Amino acid sequence: MKSDEWYNFKLADKNSVITDLFRGQVAKEIECLGCHEKKYIFSLFWDLILTPGPITSKKAKKLRRSKSIPLKALLQIFQRTKKENSSCQFCQNQKGKSHNFISKLPEALIISFEKFKYQEEEFVKARYSVKFPIELDLKDYTLNSKNGKAYQLIYLF
Ligand SMILES: [Zn+2]
Repeated sequence: MKSDEWYNFKLADKNSVITDLFRGQVAKEIECLGCHEKKYIFSLFWDLILTPGPITSKKAKKLRRSKSIPLKALLQIFQRTKKENSSCQFCQNQKGKSHNFISKLPEALIISFEKFKYQEEEFVKARYSVKFPIELDLKDYTLNSKNGKAYQLIYLF
């Protein structure tokens, strides 16, 4: 699979116990709205950073007002479809859409949350807490659902 090739190329000379345990990979899938050709942009992560904003939908605004946000809601925001302005190499169409997926889950997943946002020339601390399940199955957020993995919650800080 293309994501595996990219991952192995990026880590060819950097493999260690730490990378084996904590390194994951995110894929941004960009689909052309003209010819429906898809392309992928991959990036590595040590911790999966989730955020409830900036968001424009009513549902997301409601989430940000609530004091406690379910982790799954933040994962859905991470994966939501966005408009993409990207020139297609096949049909020259300028319009597309994109999704984020997790293309490689690490053995131990660290999730962190964006707690500050830049607003009116200063950083403002976001006031929300996140509801964690004891067991988290991420198959719905992976590029290939058979690569999904269930995690047990170990530590919160
Ligand atoms: Zn196209």
